[in-house]
Amino acid sequence: TPVVEVKNLIKRFRRESGAVVNAIDDVTFEVAQGDFVVLLGPSGCGKTTLLRTIAGLETPDEGSIAIAGRTQFSSREGIEVPPERRDISMIFQSYALWPHMTAFKNVAYPLLSRRGRKVPKDEVARRVREALELVGVGELERQYPGQMSGGQQQRIALARALVNNDDLVLFDEPLSNVDAKVREQLRFELVSMQRKLGFSALFVTHDQTEAMELAHRIAVLDSGRIAQFGSPQEIYHRPATRYVAKFIGAINESLGTVSAVDGDTVVVDTGHGRVVGALVGQRVAVGDRVAAMWRPERGLLSREEPQAVNRWLGRVKAPMFVGSHTEYLLAVGDVDVRLWSPRSDLVDAGAAAWVSVAPEDVRVLPLD
Ligand code: ADP
Ligand code: MG
Repeated sequence: TPVVEVKNLIKRFRRESGAVVNAIDDVTFEVAQGDFVVLLGPSGCGKTTLLRTIAGLETPDEGSIAIAGRTQFSSREGIEVPPERRDISMIFQSYALWPHMTAFKNVAYPLLSRRGRKVPKDEVARRVREALELVGVGELERQYPGQMSGGQQQRIALARALVNNDDLVLFDEPLSNVDAKVREQLRFELVSMQRKLGFSALFVTHDQTEAMELAHRIAVLDSGRIAQFGSPQEIYHRPATRYVAKFIGAINESLGTVSAVDGDTVVVDTGHGRVVGALVGQRVAVGDRVAAMWRPERGLLSREEPQAVNRWLGRVKAPMFVGSHTEYLLAVGDVDVRLWSPRSDLVDAGAAAWVSVAPEDVRVLPLD
């Protein structure tokens, strides 16, 4: 049985103006045992609301939620299990530590506050110390949150979320308030902790790099709906929609009209000539308006005209050396094209150059 099963979930909010927002709009997905699932999407797309409904802090309007095979919410059956009975830990964006309690007390809190279970005192102490050690702040036991850095506070919050040893931990952008270096470090640690402890994770973020690094599977949310659910590789290489393609990583886009379709191969007439691309799952017909999209690292740049199906002559606006690669920005007909190369000496600013890309690296996606 999956750890989480969400079916046809809908949550509406009424704005002060009276307008109704579908914050969650018919969402269905599962989290398998031991999975690390990331809910990814821009601010306002419904990530927090979805987590809160699973935790029981928000009542959905329709649909059902099961955890470890047990129904926690069902609009049809009239079931709603209160949050403290759901055996879920949750960690928030703000550390939400009690300022008047030491790190020890903060971490012990869930063990003492959960209803129906009395954990003996020495076991509390053992588990709290274990959790603090695990997140690397054993020495902060007696300190108060006000005496700690942001990164340390977030480690305490993490220990508090893990101390119950729940099978499911929900994370709502827990790393967005710590600075970049610490954030990166904590991501690595989080991945190894999850592997070691074996809990299933549902992790919310608006940061696509974070999603790619952490996730076994990513659910991309678009205005309360799941636009795509798949591995980071699938999402990156086989985006289901133009929204997904644009949200994850950098991508070039030429808009045009389909002039021929042959199996999965599509010919698109664009403002800078013909583009041959591939369909992955989607269907298009001759005459449809589409986007032909490809990743900057898939393009090639040359001074001589290449032997390639897709080749366009452009003018280099600015090569930008960024360390791991050089980014070339070119004006090609009516569009600007980005191209990444390990070489920084291909062409100078102002020069004419050819861009080519293999048809199998071009995704043709319907305009949404
Ligand atoms: P995210 O976490 O992805 O930024 P939220 O889940 O917080 O998104 O919000 C999703 C949508 O629901 C937004 O349009 C937001 O304004 C609306 N919303 C969230 N909570 C409430 C609330 N308590 N009352 C009214 N609207 C809300
Ligand atoms: Mg949020």
